[in-house]
Amino acid sequence: MFCTESSLSRLDFTQWSLFAKLENDEELKAAIFKMTYRGSRSSGTCVETTTIKPEEIGEDLVSRDDVFDTTYREKAGPKPPRKLVWRNVILMLLLHVGALYGFFLIPAAKFHTLAFSIICFMFSALGVTAGAHRLWSHRSYKASLPLRIFLAVSNSMAFQNDIYEWVRDHRGHHKYSETDADPHNALRGFFFAHIGWLLQRKHPDVLEKGRKLDLRDIEADGVVMFQRSHYKKSILVMCFIMPTLVPWYFWGESLYVAFYVPCLLRYALVLNATWLVNSAAHMFGNRPYDKTINPRENSLVALGAIGEGFHNYHHTFPYDYAASEFGERYNLTTCFIDLMCLLGLASDCKSVSKETIMARRMRTGDGSHRSG
Ligand SMILES: [Zn+2]
Ligand SMILES: [Zn+2]
Repeated sequence: MFCTESSLSRLDFTQWSLFAKLENDEELKAAIFKMTYRGSRSSGTCVETTTIKPEEIGEDLVSRDDVFDTTYREKAGPKPPRKLVWRNVILMLLLHVGALYGFFLIPAAKFHTLAFSIICFMFSALGVTAGAHRLWSHRSYKASLPLRIFLAVSNSMAFQNDIYEWVRDHRGHHKYSETDADPHNALRGFFFAHIGWLLQRKHPDVLEKGRKLDLRDIEADGVVMFQRSHYKKSILVMCFIMPTLVPWYFWGESLYVAFYVPCLLRYALVLNATWLVNSAAHMFGNRPYDKTINPRENSLVALGAIGEGFHNYHHTFPYDYAASEFGERYNLTTCFIDLMCLLGLASDCKSVSKETIMARRMRTGDGSHRSG
């Protein structure tokens, strides 16, 4: 185990000027230099402050396009008219009617089917939270090939667009948060941020800025690109066929109940839990880290979205693998990543030092000094 302090002198001039150009935020720079790494090479859960290799910092910053862009300005004049995508409206309506019906079928379901539904919920949610979000969108830790395959399969079960598209939308959400270029701009209201953005054509700025986002790291990931090229088949099998056939084949559940409960109801619940991060966690809760932005700390959303509700923290420090100041508290996704580190399947988890968090709280927080 080696625990040495990070040092600015480790950077040569070129790397330092690149760093300074990319991040005009002294605090963020300080935070990155104080990043602690929790990896498979460490013993147990010991968090080590280690000297970060300069090339590692350069690579991370070049390919990370999720930091708020203060230079973007919305275009003046009236907003473009809303154009509904009727196919999505009808499909979402059918899904939610089916899920509601599935809810009333719960008493008719076998115990094994209900347990299986919960497992499917967790499995598919992890494909979004630990996979598309913390690994691929923010590169907040590194995952081995088997873990990336596992996360891509579970991501297909969640059926929230393929990983590539999810990452593009999410980096845009952070970089242009709550502007016209944010795919689910919460300033357009709860319904729009929750589901409405999927039911209509995107704002032209979302398309324009989305095309310019740096996604080279994602394009270089064979697992992501394989999932993208086989996406329709993978969602058909993982999101619909498998959750319906497994209860029927292994413990004799009726196909009817299996289709409505572990398939449709579970799918709709994971969707809504994820959407609540975009809607409720941008509106309800306190802002201990940055009161100048709308994302908030919301423990209820964190519970439903297995750890993704600490949203004021997350928008302030998007590169923290725990997406929260409080590690594993209400945060099954962080527990999962820590377990993967212990098993040697994940490494290099980035987190923020307590001093940096406290300094930020004092400077821009709302004074609530608590989370949730
Ligand atoms: Zn957000
Ligand atoms: Zn994020």
